[in-house]
Amino acid sequence: MSETYVIQPLNSWLGDHERPAVISGPCSAESREQVLDIARQLALIPQVKAMRAGIWKPRTRPSAFEGVGEEGLKWMQVVQQETGLKIAVEVAKPAHIELALKYGMDILWIGARTTGNPFSIQELAEVLTGTDIPVLVKNPLNPDLKLWLGALERFYQTGIIKLAAVHRGFHCFDEGPYRNNPRWEIPIELMRLMPGLPIFCDPSHICGNRYLIAEVSQKALDLEMDGLMIETHNNPDKALTDSNQQILPETLAKILIDLTIRIEKSSPEFSNILEELRLKIDIIDTQLIEILAKRMKIVHEMGEYKRDHNITILQIERWRELISSRLETAGKHGMNRDFLLHILQLVHKESIRIQTEILNKKEE
Ligand code: PEP
Ligand code: MN
Repeated sequence: MSETYVIQPLNSWLGDHERPAVISGPCSAESREQVLDIARQLALIPQVKAMRAGIWKPRTRPSAFEGVGEEGLKWMQVVQQETGLKIAVEVAKPAHIELALKYGMDILWIGARTTGNPFSIQELAEVLTGTDIPVLVKNPLNPDLKLWLGALERFYQTGIIKLAAVHRGFHCFDEGPYRNNPRWEIPIELMRLMPGLPIFCDPSHICGNRYLIAEVSQKALDLEMDGLMIETHNNPDKALTDSNQQILPETLAKILIDLTIRIEKSSPEFSNILEELRLKIDIIDTQLIEILAKRMKIVHEMGEYKRDHNITILQIERWRELISSRLETAGKHGMNRDFLLHILQLVHKESIRIQTEILNKKEE
């Protein structure tokens, strides 16, 4: 597939907005009163351009609340007419798409569980052929950029150019502060591979609680993401799904006011300073690569020496000493020791690979 994508800018389908464009609403539509109450409050927040609500909820256990279904689309139609907000719903099956289109929904989103399944994505993309509806694709549960990119490409290939990604974090096995690990490097790599693709961050599903939402939203903006998808509920504690992470619309308004919107590339003075710093980084990166290449050359010589003298490749005592002395040096320079440890481990792994290759060549 070609590397150039012609993707419609966000303001062409979400309306004129400043960064961040916000999509907000309950995890699940629960009743007509609930969605209308939330919608009326959201309509007063200038950054909120669209309301979200889950109509069909993919749940882990079949006994849990699974969404209100078609009835909910009728309520969302009322919201759309009364408030003028655009409406976004999640679709996971062709039948969902048919109903969402029948009720005039404005935006569709693909949930994390669906993105992980290329069969489903292909099927949904085919149903959408010839339509002009915007599609948001959430990242898959596992940190696999290719699956995310592949899903976006499947929609793009069937002619969907009002396309955006939603970064909702990745499943993590270990206990941490987040319900889903943000792994920011993955959406950053997506931005690089699909230039022009709008990206929303979904701090609600990343955090899984109410307390870290502001911090994660700020981080998303600092990384130049275009929008935020944040779950709001008129009675978060009583929400039927994801109650720990939903916030009141008034809390959302406060979080949005408190965000610092840093300049992007606007002022010439800012660009000059940044250009200069980037240039320095470019030079240092080149030096780093040259130094690493020199180190690997010595590893090569060592590999040959060890092979010719029948010495084992890994000498654990030497490795232990090396790590502790390098970490001490890192400490003196005020560097994060975990970071340096990671780098040393990578370099060491490559050294062992090179030496093993040398040894195997002899035995061939
Ligand atoms: C949701 O947005 O409510 C949802 C189910 O999200 P995800 O697919 O990211 O888990
Ligand atoms: Mn949810």
